[in-house]
Amino acid sequence: MSTTGQIIRCKAAVAWEAGKPLVMEEVEVAPPQKHEVRIKILFTSLCHTDVYFWEAKGQTPLFPRIFGHEAGGIVESVGEGVTDLQPGDHVLPIFTGECGDCPHCHSEESNMCDLLRINTERGGMIHDGESRFSINGKPIHHFLGTSTFSEYTVVHSGQVAKINPDAPLDKVCIVSCGLSTGLGATLNVAKPKKGQSVAIFGLGAVGLAAAEGARIAGASRIIGVDLNSQRFDQAKEFGVTEFVNPKDHDKPVQQVIAEMTNGGVDRSVECTGSVQAMIQAFECVHDGWGVAVLVGVPSKDDAFKTHPMNFLNERTLKGTFFGNYKPKTDIPGVVEKYMNKELELEKFITHTLPFSEINKAFDYMLKGESIRCIITMGA
Ligand code: NAD
Ligand code: ZN
Repeated sequence: MSTTGQIIRCKAAVAWEAGKPLVMEEVEVAPPQKHEVRIKILFTSLCHTDVYFWEAKGQTPLFPRIFGHEAGGIVESVGEGVTDLQPGDHVLPIFTGECGDCPHCHSEESNMCDLLRINTERGGMIHDGESRFSINGKPIHHFLGTSTFSEYTVVHSGQVAKINPDAPLDKVCIVSCGLSTGLGATLNVAKPKKGQSVAIFGLGAVGLAAAEGARIAGASRIIGVDLNSQRFDQAKEFGVTEFVNPKDHDKPVQQVIAEMTNGGVDRSVECTGSVQAMIQAFECVHDGWGVAVLVGVPSKDDAFKTHPMNFLNERTLKGTFFGNYKPKTDIPGVVEKYMNKELELEKFITHTLPFSEINKAFDYMLKGESIRCIITMGA
């Protein structure tokens, strides 16, 4: 029986209060409106950004809310004006979008769409500001326009990447956020040449994805830098060849790396969010050609301080958002890299859970035990 145009009742994990376990609820999901699609989510994973906004430290809390933004599913129905997606399409919802019409979408260099770029404060849909989720008539806020901790969700069609239907959604769902951010930071922005050396600061999911990019690019040395030595064993599987824990050295990390590499690494990618690490990542690249890329999100009052001579000596500093990938145009190609066995995803997946146990995924992440935990909906 078709559910098109009907309200769907399904299970969702609702965050009623900051930092409190999610509660499984029956929610009503309204049909998609103009330029929206309703998606049956099959798999979702948990990313640090969900945990950060669920804890709601240092931001305006917005509750009740349905979190989740890294997922894979199948289109159930489409709203008015949606021409590029249809029921049955296999898709990844993405926290940032591509309207196709703004100066950013027209620029080859940008993925910062004016209409659909990430907005963490918005709790409703762009079309009318309203939520498509409710419980007994009480609206539940959306998160990042994706809200994938629900068996069905409504997403703007500009935030939906249509992918190869043969791709296993329980693996490629991780492509919709952290994996692409780190991978693209290396492949699209740092662009190491074959045989070059790359330093990766921060060996969480994003840093390990950046290391995967360095491996694919054919880097000769991948130097992992992390304050947590436990991250090092895991990182070996990601092609990281050497490790530096800044705590083990009296000298600044920049100097340690310069000594290891005859003057500096060719490329560095910072994936920590620490401003000290950002400065170190810049100052450790080789003069003349070194490029450093910032990915981590700093604290509100941070300032980046370095001597201008570091720039004059022909070092380049860049930053990137979602690995410079345009979500609709480029993400299907990242999935193809996995299908062609160029990209390895399995090693990122350290845990799996049924939807009913989603709260455990928060524990794994908070304890630093998981890289990615895949949650099976309907289980
Ligand atoms: P994570 O917490 O899993 O990993 C961060 C790692 O950095 C940890 O292992 C930690 O020990 C290490 N670290 C912290 N401070 C350090 C320092 N001074 N020197 C060396 N290592 C240090 O986080 P993650 O999920 O991998 O995300 C990494 C960063 O990327 C976060 O800041 C996140 O907000 C950001 N991010 C950015 C984008 C983007 O589009 N730019 C997208 C997603 C995530
Ligand atoms: Zn746009």
